[in-house]
Amino acid sequence: MRRVYLDHNATTPVHSEVLEAMMPFFQDQFGNASSIHWAGREVKKYVDEARENVAALLNAGPNEIIFTGGGTESDNMAIKGVSFAAREKGQHIITTQVEHHAVLHTCQFLEKMGYEITYLPVDSEGLIDLTELRRSIKDQTILITIMFANNETGTIFPVQKIGEMAREKGVIFHTDAIQAAGKVPIDLKQLPVDILSLSGHKLYAPKGIGAQYIRSGTPMTSLIHGGAQERNRRAGTENVPYIVGLGKANEIARRDFQKRHDHLLALRDRLHQGIIHRIPHVKLNGHPTERLPNTVNMSFLYIEGESLLLNLDLEGIAVSSGSACTSGSLEPSHVLLAMAIPPEIAQSAIRFSLGWSNTLEEVDYTVEVLPGIVQRLRDMSPLYQKRVAMAP
Ligand SMILES: *Cc1c(COP(=O)(O)O)cnc(C)c1O
Repeated sequence: MRRVYLDHNATTPVHSEVLEAMMPFFQDQFGNASSIHWAGREVKKYVDEARENVAALLNAGPNEIIFTGGGTESDNMAIKGVSFAAREKGQHIITTQVEHHAVLHTCQFLEKMGYEITYLPVDSEGLIDLTELRRSIKDQTILITIMFANNETGTIFPVQKIGEMAREKGVIFHTDAIQAAGKVPIDLKQLPVDILSLSGHKLYAPKGIGAQYIRSGTPMTSLIHGGAQERNRRAGTENVPYIVGLGKANEIARRDFQKRHDHLLALRDRLHQGIIHRIPHVKLNGHPTERLPNTVNMSFLYIEGESLLLNLDLEGIAVSSGSACTSGSLEPSHVLLAMAIPPEIAQSAIRFSLGWSNTLEEVDYTVEVLPGIVQRLRDMSPLYQKRVAMAP
């Protein structure tokens, strides 16, 4: 069977150059980066180089980058780390209703501990109202945590403006840039961001490795105690092979940025245009222009996204749906619901997320296969039958 992978916002394959760069560090170069002897010194060099590569993608300094055990850990570290450090100053945090669960559930945990959280609503295109953000900042506000780009819709947030507002009010600003890194330019010399989270497996490095940019001087309590690694911000022997892999992935993301960006944009628009030209009753979810170059989230009215996903899977096409299977029932996505999309339209959503190795031909295959499946499911859908019956 043909296999077409269109779920790169869920995870990406490890790039062959990344794997190749990692291999020596499992056996030949196995040293502990903290050791003073030759075995340690040799690998330390490569850890430093990886740090420089991550810093370069973000236009930051290598001394402002630390390695973590993944995106979820980076988000937790930022939010809890700042909250614990600033407990005396205040206990109010501002976020949005459309964050990844790594942020939302961390905020809910802090809420149980007595912190106050403002979950800003979003409009129908997934963006917050900046006036409302300004209004919600108070003397006790210690942290604003707002994502760079949304993982479900690809909507890109006005990080520059949010950061300026945070800075003006003296509030620390963290952004989950896990979906944005490598897909949109990020220049931390320009952007007023204090903490920025990255994850390896969303940019062609392995799962279980991440990074955090922490602007020098940002007060943050460490969550993992032990050795003095990562400048006392995150203890534990360095995961050298994975750090080297993440460094390589960042180096490639910078080197191939324009090529990948143009390719993704061409694929994205071809897929979107193909769908709207061939299938009636579809709707794009997310911002029409302020959107990641690889993400197309569409509702196929009158059918369930989950059924469409399973039928596409039968044709070898991997996508993800707008619902999360929580305890056996299909809950519409919290992101789409926050955008005031009616539950039945949120239920009919499919996310296509493209990667640099996808081809125009794969997009065309998907656009060929979709109309038949959608029609078949609509023919079985009571909602659709009712609509047909009511049509003049
Ligand atoms: C994937 C993802 C995470 C979690 O990262 P992991 O490395 O899988 O733990 C957090 N935030 C966003 C926006 C993501 O897409």
